[in-house]
Amino acid sequence: MNVLIERNFINGAWDEGSTGVSHAVINPVTETPIGHVPEASAGDVDRAVLAAIDAFPAWSALRGSERAVYMRKMSAAIAAHMDDLVPMQMASCGKPRAEAEADFRGSIDCINYFADRAEELDARRVTPVDYDIPGYRSTTRLEPMGPVGFILPWNFPMKICSWKLGPALAAGCTVVIKPSEIAPFADIFLGAAAQEAGLPAGVLNIVNGRGAVTGQALAEHPGLRKISFTGSTKTGKTIMKAAAEDVKNIGLELGGKSPIVVFEDADLDLAASLAAEGVFYNCGQCCNATGRLLVHENIAEALAQKIIEISQNQIVDSPDNPAMTIGPLASKPQYDKVTGYMDIAREEGLNCRTGGGRHPGFNTGYFVEPTLYTDVPKTSRLWQEEIFGPVLCLRTFKDETEAIREANDTQYGLAATIITEDEERAERVAAQLDAGHVYTNVSVAIPPQTSWGGFKQSGIGRELGPWGLAGFLEVKTVTARR
Ligand code: NAD
Repeated sequence: MNVLIERNFINGAWDEGSTGVSHAVINPVTETPIGHVPEASAGDVDRAVLAAIDAFPAWSALRGSERAVYMRKMSAAIAAHMDDLVPMQMASCGKPRAEAEADFRGSIDCINYFADRAEELDARRVTPVDYDIPGYRSTTRLEPMGPVGFILPWNFPMKICSWKLGPALAAGCTVVIKPSEIAPFADIFLGAAAQEAGLPAGVLNIVNGRGAVTGQALAEHPGLRKISFTGSTKTGKTIMKAAAEDVKNIGLELGGKSPIVVFEDADLDLAASLAAEGVFYNCGQCCNATGRLLVHENIAEALAQKIIEISQNQIVDSPDNPAMTIGPLASKPQYDKVTGYMDIAREEGLNCRTGGGRHPGFNTGYFVEPTLYTDVPKTSRLWQEEIFGPVLCLRTFKDETEAIREANDTQYGLAATIITEDEERAERVAAQLDAGHVYTNVSVAIPPQTSWGGFKQSGIGRELGPWGLAGFLEVKTVTARR
């Protein structure tokens, strides 16, 4: 099967769209197209939403255990096509093979996890309320929200879509997916997976296109009961306004500028390796990238030296090189953004200890150097703003109180990492950090059983775990005479 599918998927069928306009999806290594996708108009979005509305009564009437069978067949279809999906993802995102594989494995695990939750839902769907009011009795019913829309980013296309798709299908919702225009093919493949699984027509629909037209039409569509969005905080605010018009539910997974806090008692090798991984994984294009390194002043220079060494040992290259560790940035706009911050660093006179520019080894491709700035002032734009590239900024602190204050001194609150050998301190600090997921002495992992989502301007709501399922369920109480 060709997994690179250049179509929309509406009401169970591949669809060319009505506009006749398409846009190219660019390989970030070669800067040449790997394929094209149609630009769906507001009318195409409308057809997809109507298909989701029509499919909703029958899909939501199934038992959770019946929906789980379809979901497991979908995750099996993804697993069966990994050999083709992984190279396609490497070509469209510039990801190393292991990182592309992880995107699909994470997706399979997540869909299977929510298939289990769909089965459990059968027993939880209607529960009596425990109270004693003479003449009254109540039950609580969990009902699927209805047809819902997903608007997706390009950095982990498959996993992030599955964090929404798994709970939505488990709850009994039907869906319309708008993939990112930058890396849409993994998400479009879900149409093929739906066909292989025999999913009823209209349960899963896909519309391609740019945010301002296709995304906006989805966010504004009155037929949807929720928009679940992952992307930048700026776009999240636009979607929130669009959803306000008819008071849609929203889930917003937005940007971050997460801290990694290294205390004086830390294992320095562990700290260096986690700090480097925290901004180099996926070339720094992670919402939870720990781009703000806060280090106790007594160990700051020793840690900086270790990070410089790790940075200079990275192999920046095309994913075709099996030895490479960091690929290109995923797109030209992202390359312009990251090198723009490197220009700002020069204008601000930041102390660049390694990297700081376009990678000199390439004439073509969106390659940048792994970069470390030290002594970064709090007022620097590089300290304050999400860069979304392999750029680490370091500041020092004197004591725990200052470390917590500095870590929380941001508009964001998605994730945080603490490095210390003192377990009591780790717990004390974790409790005080404004972050949806705090890691202590470990690399970032996001199992589907945990929660994902941000404090402050990093978002609204939680994905994964029971909270993810609850995000697609309405709670209805039925009270009657006893
Ligand atoms: P983006 O906001 O530019 O785009 C995300 C999606 O929104 C795309 O599909 C785009 O077409 C669409 N869009 C753009 N304008 C729109 C509009 N006016 N109306 C409706 N849809 C619109 O984000 P991106 O560049 O694709 O992704 C990177 C961002 O995503 C970073 O800020 C990153 O932190 C964030 N992110 C967050 C999480 C999380 O879990 N919190 C995960 C991954 C990425």
